[in-house]
Amino acid sequence: MARNFPPQLLPDFIKLWRMIRATTLRPDVPDTISWLLSTGGSYTASSAYKIHFEGQVCSEAPTIVWQQWAPAKCKFFLWLLLHDRLWCADRLQRRRWPNEYFCPLCVRNLETSWHLLFECPFAQQIWGGVAAWTNCGSLAPTVWANERNFESVWHQIMEKALPRHRKGIKSIFTLVCWGIWKERNSRIFNKISAKSTIIACIRDEAREWAFANAKALRELLFDPP
Ligand SMILES: [Zn+2]
Repeated sequence: MARNFPPQLLPDFIKLWRMIRATTLRPDVPDTISWLLSTGGSYTASSAYKIHFEGQVCSEAPTIVWQQWAPAKCKFFLWLLLHDRLWCADRLQRRRWPNEYFCPLCVRNLETSWHLLFECPFAQQIWGGVAAWTNCGSLAPTVWANERNFESVWHQIMEKALPRHRKGIKSIFTLVCWGIWKERNSRIFNKISAKSTIIACIRDEAREWAFANAKALRELLFDPP
């Protein structure tokens, strides 16, 4: 037996050894190869492909992140958010790296990406303001206040939105998250607060996106519900 044989495999090894010992080979019968993953016993590429991904959880990241118009840097930011990879204070703390601990927007709670973007009263004011400006009620925090994670908030917003505006709202959703994140960075790294103008900044950037190439966003902004 190999020196590094893992002990957890020992029961399987003994079982296999007993099965082999109980088997009597007949020299006149040729060996056959059987593929256990398909019903006929023959190898199929589809059965091998299926077993390769067994047990994996399907991610909604492709739908949420990539199926919308937004600059690549904003999509990548959203991907980081979806995978809890933003460098907020909670993550910095786990690594014992320098951090400010408190959310720089409300200065009341530990800064997590969830708090910063959805739970913070300041962030909720931004969401409410954008909901009023775009006339998209599903963006208002009252619609998704009971949700507890990023994906469920996104689903609530999309579910309650008019189908013809969903694609544009995806861009707005990304832009609001991005706007709050930029405000957070401005406060931490430049000690500058744009509290009173952040919605105006988001609005200006939305118009730039709309006239760049975001057709769905253009329809949402200039053809309101
Ligand atoms: Zn806060």
